[in-house]
Amino acid sequence: MDADKNLSRAGENLRPGVQKYVDAARKAAEERDRYIREVVKKWKFDTIAVHGLYSVQEALEKNQGSIIEPIFMSSSQAWHDADEMEAALAYLIPGWAYSRIANPSTGYLEDTLMLLETYGSDVEARCCCTSSGMSAIFSATEPLLAMEPQQTGPWNFVSSRQIYGGTYMLFDVRHPQMGAECRWVDDAADLDEWESRIDVNTSFLFGELPSNPGQTFFDIKAVADIAHKHDIPLIVDSTIATPALLRPFEHGADIVVHSVTKTMTSSGFGIAGAVIAKKPLHYRSVPWEGQEDYASYLKLLPNRDFGPNLSPFHAILTLNDLRTLRSKVSRMSHSAMQVARFLEEHPKVEKVEYLGLNSHPLHDLASRYMWLVDSEYDEVYGGRINRYGHLLSFLMKDGHEQARNVINNLQRIWRATDLGRIKSIANIPSISTHQQQGEESRQAAGIPPNLIRLCVGAEHPMDIIDDLDQALEKA
Ligand SMILES: *Cc1c(COP(=O)(O)O)cnc(C)c1O
Repeated sequence: MDADKNLSRAGENLRPGVQKYVDAARKAAEERDRYIREVVKKWKFDTIAVHGLYSVQEALEKNQGSIIEPIFMSSSQAWHDADEMEAALAYLIPGWAYSRIANPSTGYLEDTLMLLETYGSDVEARCCCTSSGMSAIFSATEPLLAMEPQQTGPWNFVSSRQIYGGTYMLFDVRHPQMGAECRWVDDAADLDEWESRIDVNTSFLFGELPSNPGQTFFDIKAVADIAHKHDIPLIVDSTIATPALLRPFEHGADIVVHSVTKTMTSSGFGIAGAVIAKKPLHYRSVPWEGQEDYASYLKLLPNRDFGPNLSPFHAILTLNDLRTLRSKVSRMSHSAMQVARFLEEHPKVEKVEYLGLNSHPLHDLASRYMWLVDSEYDEVYGGRINRYGHLLSFLMKDGHEQARNVINNLQRIWRATDLGRIKSIANIPSISTHQQQGEESRQAAGIPPNLIRLCVGAEHPMDIIDDLDQALEKA
C-alpha cells in the first residue's frame, strides 16, 4: 500500500514546467465537466448512447474530422517534454501513457457507459473498462478484500446465491483461496437474510438482477440501505437489465458491474467488462486511495498492476453496438414477452420463469424497477412501460432428457452458452454455464437439470416461436 500512497503528490512543490501541464489539465477537466453538465446531461438516453462525449469540436481539432471515434491502435503515448512525462506518470494529468493503463478509444466507451448508467440522476460516477465481465467483477471486489491494519480476522462478503456461474466460482473458490469468506444469501428477496449474514468483517454486499438464469430479483433500495447502515458498499451486476431498463445507482447501489460482452455488445464480436463506481465511496472497506474515485483508482493502480485492460479495437466495436442499445433491448424484451406467453401455454412445459409474467412471484417487485428508459417520450406507448429483458428460462415436464431433445431439435435458435445476442440462443445451464458449481449448489440456486435458458434475439418473434414449436413438438 505504501507504493500507492507515494503516488499522491498533493501539496508538493512542483517544477514550474510540470505545474504548467497540471494547470492546463485542470482547465481541460473543468471544460469537460461543463460540457457534461450543460450539454450532455440534457440529452435523452439515445442521444447520449449515439454520441457520448465525442464532439464535433474534438473530431475537428484532434481527429481530422472523423465522425466516428478513432481506434487508437497504439501501445503508448508520446510526450512533448520531460515535464509532461513526469506529470502524466505521476497521474497529475489525465494522459493515457500506456495502453495497459488507459487508451483514448477505451476512454470513449468508458465515458458513454458512465453517462448511460447515471442517466436521469445527479449521481456522479466513473467507469473502468476491463477485458471481460469476470475481470470487471474481480477488479471491483479484490481491493475491497485487501487486509487493512485495523481489521480483526479475515474479511467476508455477502452475495445473493443466484448469480452467473463464473461469478459463483470466483466467490466460492478464488476469493476464499485468498482468505476471504463468501456468505450466500439463498433468498435475495428476503431482507432479513441479507442482514443476518453481515458482521464487522463484512466488506461488501453483491447481488445480480435479474439473475442469470433463475430470474431472481431483490429490492435494491432496501438492500442498499442495509449495506449503508453497516458502512459498506452494495455492488450490483446489472448485465441482464442494462441501463436501458434499470440504473441501480438511482436506487442506492454504489458500484455497478457489467459483462459488456452480453447485451451491450449484442453483435457478439467479443468479450468486455466494465466497473462503474459512484463518486465518492466513503466506506470502511474501500481503500482510502480509492474513496474519492474508485473506478479511476482501479484503472490507475490495481489494474495497472494486474493488467486486465480492454483492447481499444474491441472498445470501439462495443461502442458502436451501444448506440442502439435502447431500441434493441426494447425489441428483444418485447419479443421475449411473447415467447414467454407461448411457452407458458405449451403442454410439455412445466413452468416458465420470466419476470414479465404475472405468474412470477417477483413480478410486482421487478415492475417497480424495470422500465424502458424514456418510453414516456415514445408516442407509440403513450406513457412509461415496463420491460423485463431478453432472458427467460423454462422447465420441461419430462425432465433433463426432454430438455436435451428440445435443444437438439432447434433449427434457427443457436445452441451456445451465450446471451444478449442479436441472435436467439438457448442452452441447458446444468450441463454448461453452471456445470462446475455442482449439483448441491445448483439446487440451492434453483437451477434444475430440466431447465432451458433462452435468450431472445432480434429476429421476428413469430420465427422464434415457430422454431420452439417444432422443437417442442418432437421432444
Ligand atoms: C457473462 C456474465 C458475466 C461474465 O462476463 P464475461 O464477459 O463472460 O467474463 C458476469 N455476469 C453475468 C450476469 C453474465 O451474464
